[in-house]
Amino acid sequence: MLKKIDKNDLSIEIKRHSFAHVMAAAIKELFPKVRFGVGPTVENGFYYDIELPHQLKMEELALIEKRMKDIIARKQPFVRRKLNLAEAKKLFVDLAEPYKLELIRDVESHGTTKYDEIQDGSSAGVKKHKMNFVTIYKTGEFIDLCRGPHVKNTSFLDPKAFKLTKIAGAYWRGEEKNPMLQRIYGAAFNTEEDLKKYLAQQEEAKRRDHRKLGKELGLFVFSDLIGPGLPLYTFKGAFILRKIKEYSNKLRKEMGYQEVQTPQINKAELFKISGHYDKYKNDMFNVVSHYSNEEYFLKPMNCPQHTQIFASEKRSYKDLPIRIADFSMLYRDEKPGELSGLTRLRSFSQDDGHCFCREDQLEEEFNKLLDAIPRVMKTYGMDYTIRLSLRDPQKKKNYLGDDKIWEKSQKMLKNLLIHKKIKFIVAEGEAAFYGPKMDLLASDSLGRRWQLSTIQLDLNMPQRFGLEFTGKDGKAQSPIMIHSAFMGSPERIFGVLIEHYGGAFPFWMSPVQIAIINVGKDHKKYAREVAAELEGQGFRTIILDEDESVGKKIHFAETQKIPYMVITGDKEIKQKSVALRQRGKKETEILKLNKAVEKFKKEQNPLA
Ligand SMILES: [Zn+2]
Ligand SMILES: [Zn+2]
Repeated sequence: MLKKIDKNDLSIEIKRHSFAHVMAAAIKELFPKVRFGVGPTVENGFYYDIELPHQLKMEELALIEKRMKDIIARKQPFVRRKLNLAEAKKLFVDLAEPYKLELIRDVESHGTTKYDEIQDGSSAGVKKHKMNFVTIYKTGEFIDLCRGPHVKNTSFLDPKAFKLTKIAGAYWRGEEKNPMLQRIYGAAFNTEEDLKKYLAQQEEAKRRDHRKLGKELGLFVFSDLIGPGLPLYTFKGAFILRKIKEYSNKLRKEMGYQEVQTPQINKAELFKISGHYDKYKNDMFNVVSHYSNEEYFLKPMNCPQHTQIFASEKRSYKDLPIRIADFSMLYRDEKPGELSGLTRLRSFSQDDGHCFCREDQLEEEFNKLLDAIPRVMKTYGMDYTIRLSLRDPQKKKNYLGDDKIWEKSQKMLKNLLIHKKIKFIVAEGEAAFYGPKMDLLASDSLGRRWQLSTIQLDLNMPQRFGLEFTGKDGKAQSPIMIHSAFMGSPERIFGVLIEHYGGAFPFWMSPVQIAIINVGKDHKKYAREVAAELEGQGFRTIILDEDESVGKKIHFAETQKIPYMVITGDKEIKQKSVALRQRGKKETEILKLNKAVEKFKKEQNPLA
């Protein structure tokens, strides 16, 4: 029996990819001089890189959208053909598509079109199964070099379920020496409803943009004199950052980690031993000393330094585990074009912990860290998933250490998660270069995913630095190193939290917690008494006693997103009470001052 294909059952990936072809076909009809780069799917949609004689304007996207709808209505089939390489080359020469031609030549010489594999040489294995054929797909006037799959014909796409969203510039194959193409992004979903939901979420994200809110709330600034990616935190911003760090530090202390402090510059030698020098030299800032020719670098991470704290004393099996934590500033020479607000910086810290332990202590140490994750997520009100990140078995040479170590440590992590009955997803190729890891993917209030904390198992670095302890049998052994962070970088998470909370930070992290508002002149004195009492109890207040209307003062407190307002008038003075109003709410509650204090005390600390 033939089963009718339900249009909604098709994988959204296939649809998004087909939308990219439809967009290309529409552009080809509208601008016949177009040359095509590549058009993959991305999260929530797709893009196509194109070369055009003119710079596209946003208004022209509507034109392209309209033509896409026409094409969808025409029920155009996606026609597949298999060509040998000579035929394919001839076709794209005839079509005058130089970028597609380059891709076919790559297939010919390297067996793949994947640029990174060609660059790092890992395509060598692919080349062995020589590809003599490629497939092309024709949709209307547009012919693409493509593996597929696609929908059968354009009627499988909902013309109301897509929208072209953005035009950006992108170098061909991501290389600055190559021509700059125009990248057109589209969002695409199964249904119009899903699309609308996504677009509304994007609007909300714009309203909550941490760069915009950071300015409105006076949290951080950038200065041209200081440089890109190097933020200055105001009193308020620095306060919130400190709260984030204090909270991570509190959890660390409970787990027996000791906070240490380490310098921001190191000799290159340290990173040569750790392997960072070979891999990340171009991402580190070079520092010059007037007194030696030795190379120094600003440190991009703490791990190699912490090995030296371990190595500073003779350790026996009884001393282990040694657990240390660090909030030092780190520096990475990020490309200026990739810097973004607080979420991509050149200077930042990490709530970084390293544990040096014996193999028989591994499970307990991991369990401690894994138990903390739900607490952290509850405190910040986020959902999460654990991702087990393994090395890419096809690209073993990108990782340090031999096969045996990797197999052992990957298996160990997997068993820990299974043993603890934690649900997880597996991602090959996401491991750190020195070992496998567990990553925490947290989703914020807008449903966006952020990779935050990570717990990494490392059998490599202790060996590279020759770390050892004396075992029970008196023989020297190498410790295992566990790298961990709860929130990753406090500065980055600060940016994420601004958007997650829409700037309305919970009471415990708010730099100003309570605004005290007097109704009239006669109530100023009482307002000050209330403020003094609250400050004395450890709360952070601001007195708004200018001769302005109560409405205006409430408006100010609301725009500054102060969690509570305490309003004082005649009645309150008589009763020794306050009228309490919560941020974002209209009603007030009359409370005796001591009852208000009790209420505030309940919110003074993080949840966990
Ligand atoms: Zn395709
Ligand atoms: Zn580390």
